[in-house]
Amino acid sequence: MDHGTFPWLDFRSDTRTVPDARMRAAMSGAEVGDDVYGDDPTVTALEEQTAELLGTEAALFTPTSTMANLLAPLAVPGPGSPAPRVIAGAGSHIAFLEADGLRRFGGVGLQTVEQRPDGLPDLDALEDLLAAGADAPTVVCLENTSMMWSGNALDAEATRTVAALAHRYGAHLHLDGARLANAAVALGVPLRELAEPADSVTFSVSKGLGAPVGGLLCGTRELVARARESRTWLGGSLHQAGVVAAPALVALGRLPDLAGDHATAAALAAGLESVRGVELLRPPRPTNIVMARIAGLTPDACAERLAAHGVRVLPLPNGYVRFVTHRSHDMIGVREAVRALAAVAETASTFR
Ligand SMILES: *Cc1c(COP(=O)(O)O)cnc(C)c1O
Repeated sequence: MDHGTFPWLDFRSDTRTVPDARMRAAMSGAEVGDDVYGDDPTVTALEEQTAELLGTEAALFTPTSTMANLLAPLAVPGPGSPAPRVIAGAGSHIAFLEADGLRRFGGVGLQTVEQRPDGLPDLDALEDLLAAGADAPTVVCLENTSMMWSGNALDAEATRTVAALAHRYGAHLHLDGARLANAAVALGVPLRELAEPADSVTFSVSKGLGAPVGGLLCGTRELVARARESRTWLGGSLHQAGVVAAPALVALGRLPDLAGDHATAAALAAGLESVRGVELLRPPRPTNIVMARIAGLTPDACAERLAAHGVRVLPLPNGYVRFVTHRSHDMIGVREAVRALAAVAETASTFR
């Protein structure tokens, strides 16, 4: 039986947050120009504020974080140079969902590296890859928080370790920080501290921060200028983009709210863990993602049975289903989700 989808029981992703009244008011009142001519004041304000938050010289607004991740390797080698190779964690968003785009639209070859349980790449394996292609321009990508590792938050020290290794081989470190704000809030440090070791950073306003669309590529003035040019070729330059930059500015003012999402996730994890037959992936520095599995059930079967109880989750190739908490969730939804998983675990053990 399908009970439909209620936002408070939909744990598939924090992209499912919808713009609230304040964001809609900001959109309708947004001052706009033409960003292709560089005179949309709302976009400019968003780029300046994001660069300030992340401690970079400049930032570029992109329709999605996927595009920001594609622009980073395009912008690294400079005009006329061959596309670099990209090395990314095997369980990262880039490897999982962006490899074809990088290859087809960027001419970029992707190499993947195994990740440790905290989400950091296996450093020996990374060094082997770096050494084997030391003469090719290379971009190493690191994801924070680490999606497939239960949203683990990496601290600045961890990022510095990867940056130092990349730099030793002349490579560029790109930080896919679509959820970097979650990491900063969980660790209690400013965003700029987590961004500092990287040479470029992707930041998202449309995940838990709740804006309808948008990512930003942050880095040096030179890199951002090159990315701005490539954004035009990709068809990502938007004219009156202030309309979507305005809710993104509201999102930037809400960073501390993410702590609420983390508290919800902690309550959910505690509840799910108390269910017999359920196993969780427990990261060292949890944020707003909880990965669970039921012995004997595939992620697809588990997600399907939860959906029959009205609870929506995302089945993943790592054997788990993913719950992501965000501003639409509360303790009533958490209790409902725990009850649903308990019911699914009960039937799974009965029929095993
Ligand atoms: C969501 C996400 C992206 C892609 O963001 P879109 O704006 O949906 O394109 C990229 N990287 C990571 C780590 C993400 O979580």
